[in-house]
Amino acid sequence: MKILVLNTGSSSVKYRLFDGTETLAKGLVERIGEAGGDASDHEAALQQVMAGIDLTDLGAVGHRAVHGGSEFSRPTVIDDEVVAVIERLVPLAPLHNPAALSGIAVARKLLPEVPQVAVFDTAFHQTIPPEGVTYAMDAALAERWQIRRYGFHGTSHAYVARQTAELLGLPADQARVITLHLGNGASACAVSGGHSVATSMGMSPQSGLVMGTRSGDIDPTVIFHLHRVAGLPIDEIERSLIRSAGMQGLTGENDMRTIEKRVEAGDPAATRALDVYCRRIKEYVGMYLAVLGGADAITFTAGVGQNSPVVRAAALSGLSGLGITVDKTRNESRDQIISPDGSPVAVCVIATDEELEIAQQVTAELAAHPPAAGEGGQPAAG
Ligand code: AMP
Repeated sequence: MKILVLNTGSSSVKYRLFDGTETLAKGLVERIGEAGGDASDHEAALQQVMAGIDLTDLGAVGHRAVHGGSEFSRPTVIDDEVVAVIERLVPLAPLHNPAALSGIAVARKLLPEVPQVAVFDTAFHQTIPPEGVTYAMDAALAERWQIRRYGFHGTSHAYVARQTAELLGLPADQARVITLHLGNGASACAVSGGHSVATSMGMSPQSGLVMGTRSGDIDPTVIFHLHRVAGLPIDEIERSLIRSAGMQGLTGENDMRTIEKRVEAGDPAATRALDVYCRRIKEYVGMYLAVLGGADAITFTAGVGQNSPVVRAAALSGLSGLGITVDKTRNESRDQIISPDGSPVAVCVIATDEELEIAQQVTAELAAHPPAAGEGGQPAAG
């Protein structure tokens, strides 16, 4: 059975067609709706995608959906009701959910007979216990406005945690793994027996680790101070903390490759920024070792995690007393296990593959809960 995975952004559609774990086709339609872009709108973009691939035996379309709120804890076959819930969650993910919704709407229209399944970035974290997702604030306010930790990058954390257990030959239902997804966005996750028990992103993807352009954790009073004392409008503060913070804010650029070159050349701002970035990772590793009561493995993934020996070594430096050591030669080669043999805590580098994970989750969900005949996920008449 073939699965088409769609990751629809506000101005792009990333797609990958799978047959089992094999990729049959993949690509990206960019700058949708812009002058000189690849397509005039999402419908034209998806038509273009489908015209270019062989859709015979297509078993399902898997949609990457970012925010599933408290409502979705597993991949979900899309019907009108599911669409309505994702719409209701737009205030929690004002940039991401509308894009996913347009991908879903167009795919349902163009492929009405094919089941459409939404896979949420937040779903994997629904197993975090209440004490790990509750913010210590006015409980009635939080309840009224759905304020809690949701967590993101769930598909990636789930995939690399499972791959780590497999790589190390650990029983998947017992392995304790700290996963560090360090890309342009970055988050940490504590995984126990295949279930997320803590993660660093919160109600939004803004909290936790230092990122390419996002601040990660800051004292909320910074916002009030910038508003009241510095006189900045609230939208400007939000833009600054999302787009002009993180490594961008500290160095003027967000690409870790360039920042590392500047560090090598002795640039003090870049050096400080890298220290801040790695220190934050170390703090989260410490927290999650405590949450898990020890770990079998720590796994790095995504653009920075997979490609930066400098970050991996610095983030885990000085932790040999906790059984965590990075072997210099292994770290600088392309080894998947970069700790010395026999380390109490294995340190791993695993390439994430969110699209493959989505395809596998979709396949598993449809096998477990086959849609009834005629329930292709097509919109109700009218
Ligand atoms: P992602 O969001 O997972 O695609 O990660 C993108 C980020 O990975 C880029 O912004 C870079 O900062 C970082 N990156 C990619 N390649 C390297 C590399 N060789 N060394 C350090 N950072 C890298």
